[in-house]
Amino acid sequence: MGKVVLILSDALRYDVAVANMGFLGHLVESRQASLYKIVGELPSLSRPMYETIHTGLPSSEHGIVSNSVVRLSDRPNIFRSTKEAGKTTAAAAYFWYSELYNRVPYNAIDDKEVDDTALNIQHGRFYTEDDYPDIELFNSAAHLIRKFSPDYLLLHPMGMDYYGETFGSDTKQYRSHATYQDLKLAPLIMEWRERGYVILVTGDHGINADGVHGGTTPEQREVPFFVIPAKGQGRGDTGEIISHLQIAPSILKLLDVPIPSTMKHGSLSLD
Ligand SMILES: [Zn+2]
Repeated sequence: MGKVVLILSDALRYDVAVANMGFLGHLVESRQASLYKIVGELPSLSRPMYETIHTGLPSSEHGIVSNSVVRLSDRPNIFRSTKEAGKTTAAAAYFWYSELYNRVPYNAIDDKEVDDTALNIQHGRFYTEDDYPDIELFNSAAHLIRKFSPDYLLLHPMGMDYYGETFGSDTKQYRSHATYQDLKLAPLIMEWRERGYVILVTGDHGINADGVHGGTTPEQREVPFFVIPAKGQGRGDTGEIISHLQIAPSILKLLDVPIPSTMKHGSLSLD
């Protein structure tokens, strides 16, 4: 029975992650991790992909087809299935996650910090500003892990999306922020691995030089999928292409939670 941390770095491009995240590169190079490429589902937008990643369904099937569709998820998803299996869920994430899985509309005061076993995200720490510092969120996630040992934790920083949309992806600001995330995550990844967590690092979509995503080009849709097993044995750079649709069943398999019939795509062997 495993525990999982999903680090979903908003707008983290595949090529920029591989070129600029040196600690993750070390884990891949030394075969303590595996690296895959995801050709992302469409549209390459945040809220549709948050739901796709957590339900294993394409946007036209789960119905969150645009950022403007603001409602609770009505499909089986990682948070709900994990909670219903009697396990503990947590997230340090943008408030759209609270809207998808806990309560809508989002109340910036009542919903910001929740510890309630009746909710799908039982231990939630949410933020509403796109320039909320990633390090503050990383520390919230680390605190949740030390305090509650959740079976599943989502860590969802917005820094790559913020710098990408502000300056474009072909900039010092965007690229150097990938390095910043990598160096700040490195000691946390070591701690979490020691605590028995499988750590996954991916993105919801990429972003192009204009600072735009939503389209179909490789810059907008290709994201990395790093797998860091708790036992420290990975496959290196696999060269394999996988799908966003495989993430949800793969995580539930790791958690030993029954995979809902709606999650039709094959799970990966990640432990
Ligand atoms: Zn996004």
